[in-house]
Amino acid sequence: MEGVDPSPDFTTHVYLVKDRGGTWTLIDTGLPGAHAAIVAYLAKIHVEPAAIKKILITHLHRDHVGSLREMAERTKARTFSHWIEAAYIGLHPKYDGPGTPPAEPFTIDEVLKDGDPVDAAGGLIAYHTPGHTPGHTSYYQPERKLLFSGDLFFVNGDKVTLTPPEFTHHIPTAQISARRMSQLSVDSLLTYHGGPILKQGGNAVRLLTQKL
Ligand SMILES: [Zn+2]
Repeated sequence: MEGVDPSPDFTTHVYLVKDRGGTWTLIDTGLPGAHAAIVAYLAKIHVEPAAIKKILITHLHRDHVGSLREMAERTKARTFSHWIEAAYIGLHPKYDGPGTPPAEPFTIDEVLKDGDPVDAAGGLIAYHTPGHTPGHTSYYQPERKLLFSGDLFFVNGDKVTLTPPEFTHHIPTAQISARRMSQLSVDSLLTYHGGPILKQGGNAVRLLTQKL
């Protein structure tokens, strides 16, 4: 989505993905207040908020769930996250790891575990990719070879790195998750911060994981 959550340091991406049929899926929701830009963008491209039927969350950090409540209310969409992140998004308990936890509790509708299919964006697989946070999840679309990788990876230019250590819960676990994702056939690597890498993203990931 254009114009959502611009940062002076690197681009930030909330993704709006078309489903089979006329509905849409939102992946992450930006900082608190980002809903205004999301709603403005939807109006610009003539998508009714009610056409968004699912909101998928990659992880608990505030810059991903900040506008979750507002977007869930405006769209009436079902909300999804990994079961560990769902507990932290509900502030039960409050997350005590690196990065900023949600400002307020939110109850996720449907909790996911590793390998669960999600009937969105033409068919996604939820991959538990812990390390950045304990329940971090990436969403893979095998037909189009899209990987929505949340904050597992950062992209700077055409270079893929892991998320900086100061924002990472457990670095060795993030490395293991990265190696696992490097085994997928990925064309578009759809990162939240920096990027995306639209072509041959899997090769860029493997350049990173060969060194891990
Ligand atoms: Zn994060």
